Amino acid sequence: MKQQPRILIVEDEPAIAELIAVNLRHNGMAPVWAEDGESAQREIDAVLPDAILLDWMLPGQSGVVLAKRWRADGRTRAVPILMLTARGDEPDKVAGLDAGADDYITKPFSTQELLARIRAVLRRRAPEKTEEHVTLGGLMLDAAAHRVAWQGRPLKVGPTEFKLLHFLMTHPERVHSRQQLLDRVWGDHVFIEERTVDVHVKRLREALGAGGALVETVRGAGYRITSQPATGSREAA
Ligand code: CA
Repeated sequence: MKQQPRILIVEDEPAIAELIAVNLRHNGMAPVWAEDGESAQREIDAVLPDAILLDWMLPGQSGVVLAKRWRADGRTRAVPILMLTARGDEPDKVAGLDAGADDYITKPFSTQELLARIRAVLRRRAPEKTEEHVTLGGLMLDAAAHRVAWQGRPLKVGPTEFKLLHFLMTHPERVHSRQQLLDRVWGDHVFIEERTVDVHVKRLREALGAGGALVETVRGAGYRITSQPATGSREAA
């Protein structure tokens, strides 16, 4: 039961956007289409995408301007951006990458090439959407089979706790704020209260039993999963 990566397509030509969307959907992704920067921003404000396919030539703000803005914003800073463009000139390519794009695809491109590049940026930036089997310390999570085990013993974990654990295990040893977890796990930072995160972390720890010690509270910052928990430093959520 893999989570479908949400891909925002910012493209003013409906035929191209539709072609891309159909191909993404056939390959297990969830495409969302925005025809200009303004509607793209509305989509991002509502739900943070896992990657953005950004056309260079757009009505209103250009792709380069949008890429710069999203890179400067703390909330969208880590979202991979792939620039789509008809231009193949070296200076334009450099300008796109300078603006913060992770990769660059020149139109016309093959579907296979596009999919390969999207998968590559997702593996780097959103591994929970591509990695099906993760281990950390004595914990094992199999996303395809929807199974979790601690030291070889299977555990019962609820659906939200499963998503939370999958995200934490694919981004270990770093602190994630409640806001970041809402964005990346729940896909909604506006209507869900931060307190929700605490509730599910508490349930996750309970479900993991002794393995719950791997999920650490970092006071004033958020949560982190670690393969080497500091003994005795665990706090209640
Ligand atoms: Ca265009």
